[in-house]
Amino acid sequence: MLKRFIAMAPVPSAAHFDYLVIGGGSGGIASAKKAASFGAKVGIIESGPIGGTCVNVGCVPKKIMFSAASIKEILDHDAKADYGFSFDSPTFSWPTLKQARDAYIKRLNGIYISGLDKLGITTIRGLAKFKSATEVEVEGAGVYSAERILIACGGRPRMLGIPGQELAIDSDGFFLLEDLPKTCCVIGAGYIAVEMAGILNSLGCETTLVIRKEKVLRSFDETLSDVLTEKIKSSGIKLVTNAVPQKLYKSEDGSLAVETTAGTLDGFEIVLNAIGRIPNTDRLALDKCGVAVDGDNHVIVDEYQNTNIPSIHSIGDCCGKWLLTPVAIAAGRRLSRRLFNKETDLMLQYHNIPTVVFSHPPIGTVGYTEKEATDLYGRENLSIYKTTFTQMYFSMSERKEKTTMKLICLKSENEKVIGLHMIGLNCDEMLQGFSVAVKMGATKAEFDDTVAIHPTASEELVTLTEANLV
Ligand SMILES: Cc1cc2nc3c(=O)[nH]c(=O)nc-3n(C[C@H](O)[C@H](O)[C@H](O)COP(=O)(O)OP(=O)(O)OC[C@H]3O[C@@H](n4cnc5c(N)ncnc54)[C@H](O)[C@@H]3O)c2cc1C
Repeated sequence: MLKRFIAMAPVPSAAHFDYLVIGGGSGGIASAKKAASFGAKVGIIESGPIGGTCVNVGCVPKKIMFSAASIKEILDHDAKADYGFSFDSPTFSWPTLKQARDAYIKRLNGIYISGLDKLGITTIRGLAKFKSATEVEVEGAGVYSAERILIACGGRPRMLGIPGQELAIDSDGFFLLEDLPKTCCVIGAGYIAVEMAGILNSLGCETTLVIRKEKVLRSFDETLSDVLTEKIKSSGIKLVTNAVPQKLYKSEDGSLAVETTAGTLDGFEIVLNAIGRIPNTDRLALDKCGVAVDGDNHVIVDEYQNTNIPSIHSIGDCCGKWLLTPVAIAAGRRLSRRLFNKETDLMLQYHNIPTVVFSHPPIGTVGYTEKEATDLYGRENLSIYKTTFTQMYFSMSERKEKTTMKLICLKSENEKVIGLHMIGLNCDEMLQGFSVAVKMGATKAEFDDTVAIHPTASEELVTLTEANLV
């Protein structure tokens, strides 16, 4: 299939489309394919590998690394004790995993390309820049026009903005590492930072995590933030709090040092900057089409993904809201159904979006945090149920890891569940089903009325009683 695509006739250097999509990532591909399925003539422009961040340097390779780290944890801490396995210390080859991971991603790239090809979508390779509100120039390819243009250009890692910043790698660079570093300093308190620190630590790298304040994941529910911060401390990761990096430099022995407001940390093979992401809108020459952006360069859109220019729409990470693959896909598909299938009122509701953090242990969260719910409704109008327990899995293992779950309910609406937060083994896999219930407006009584599945950890969420009220 890949060969067939490469052998295709070259894309004409000028063409007119019904729908021209800038960015062949999660959102752009989903929107382009949906539009083409309704018969629209679609072009998609991509400057990098097809599939965008998620497939190439995001969710997919990250999840593979998380799985490898989880296997290592089982081998190191769980299998040997009362589960009865015996073996010598397991060895791990990062190069073997990297090679297999890269090959898998290459296959996915091919699948994406042939998926576009099958729907008759024209793929144009190169960097896109606006020429006007209806025309886009692609470096080295030509000028293309369209009735409607979609900006789905995603984002890239934010630089540290301090002297020596070029000495650090970012999350893209993490996936280029040819071997497991012996020592690494991860900078950042967001989900990418905690995920990568967890992976490195579990796989055997001596890991330091530098955060600006006291806790990681500060925008998450406080319980999750508190519990994960403590777990990180006890996991072997060296957590350096209240430390703002000021400078990076190479020491005389060739190792890297990070000067922070809390002192200098040194002796690192790698420094990994994971302080956040910025939109790729600065490369689009938006002044030529007049699309408005906010102070952080995110495209300003209304609830229907319309920009201020009638022919131009935008979705995904470059809009700065809920930077997640399924969000970009959902917004992109809905937009195409609205534009090309006359589903005039269709839009994505940006509420009750379930999110998982592949930390060690993982987090699953949907709905309001306790702080958001308290600010909105007042603490007296909420009933909050919380439980902390040890999953049966750990009854036979050397590791005795606790799981914490929390339900936030609105008293005035029959105890409707408006927030569900959990951290512990497999919480990543537990969330999707519960998020359907939360999205449908399920009440605590309806949770209670659901027969538990035993023995599982998720049954705790349907067996919470008054004794769990906090
Ligand atoms: C390390 C990491 C881990 C992640 N893990 C998860 C996860 O577990 N779950 C999850 O849901 N999300 C995860 N994400 C986020 C997820 O990858 C993004 O939310 C998602 O990819 C956004 O899709 P998008 O279509 O908006 O942008 P992207 O997927 O970034 O696609 C944008 C595309 O546009 C192209 N482009 C940009 N400018 C131009 C231009 N001028 N011309 C032509 N092409 C251009 C880019 O090359 C890119 O391919 C992760 C991200 C990172 C970095």
